[in-house]
Amino acid sequence: MMPVFQPTEWLRCPDHRDATLDWHASEFGWKCPICGHGYAITQRVADFLPPDSPLAGEFRERESDLWDAHASEYETERQRDPIYRACLEAAAVALDPQPGERILDAGCGTGMTLRQYAQAGMEIVPFDLSAASLRLCQERSPITIQLPVRGDLTQLPFASGTFDRTLCANAIQQLPSDSLRRQCIAELCRVTAPGGRVVISVHHFSVPKQRAGWQQENSRAGSPTGDVQYIYRYLADELIEQLTPFCEVESVVGAGLPLPYYWGLSPVSRRLEPLLRGTRYGRSHGHMLVATARKRADAASCAPQFQALAGLDRQPTERLSTSTKPIS
Ligand SMILES: [Zn+2]
Repeated sequence: MMPVFQPTEWLRCPDHRDATLDWHASEFGWKCPICGHGYAITQRVADFLPPDSPLAGEFRERESDLWDAHASEYETERQRDPIYRACLEAAAVALDPQPGERILDAGCGTGMTLRQYAQAGMEIVPFDLSAASLRLCQERSPITIQLPVRGDLTQLPFASGTFDRTLCANAIQQLPSDSLRRQCIAELCRVTAPGGRVVISVHHFSVPKQRAGWQQENSRAGSPTGDVQYIYRYLADELIEQLTPFCEVESVVGAGLPLPYYWGLSPVSRRLEPLLRGTRYGRSHGHMLVATARKRADAASCAPQFQALAGLDRQPTERLSTSTKPIS
């Protein structure tokens, strides 16, 4: 059965997630009944960027401009990279969405992962900071995308428990502090239904990267494709620890393994990769980590409790490294 798409049921003011928004046809947008803030649909994208989230400010503005600027050519380089494509595939396999389900793809970019799993009958909500990326995501999707939503990963504009499955692929590592990354994970879990699946993929501080002398975090521009402002590379234990307040973590696998993709053995490597992902070798050598978790039925669903659970009362202690090591 095709799902009925009624965004007013689940879209919320990012500051007031308990109040149903009022639709104003004359302004082609919604208004929050509590704060009066308006959220309009502009060029097919619903703009729900909160003015004062924990991420708001100069960093977020630059991040938004950066991804807008790179949206049109972002995929060209990535499509040619078998390691990157293996990571996309691993995230889609972990998500395993079914027709009839409502799926959040948070930090979807231009939709490279979305196209790996999208099938008729799914209600997919692509969510990103970059409006230009969201428009491309919608144009390139194999199924109809009703409403891409622009917003902030640290303050999601959705009612609690809205989604059957929530994916955040290759995005959290760009949030520039431990507390922001925890806040994002708490939000992804909050908007997922009890018992629903949460899949998170992040750049991995893998054994090969450590051996090559890479830093766990970098704050310089200069990736081959994106000039990212910041990147943090996760260890598996950190990802598990950050999901555990809200979810049962079912698995963490490594993806994008250092297999001989470039030596004329691509078909062999493509077969080996899924077999090795869940092994000790996969978990230590994967370019990315993919965590699959189930939201606990007893997980608190209101934002303040979630914040306390996520340890947001703690002050971020880390410092940005100024290393000039390669960044992706
Ligand atoms: Zn409001």
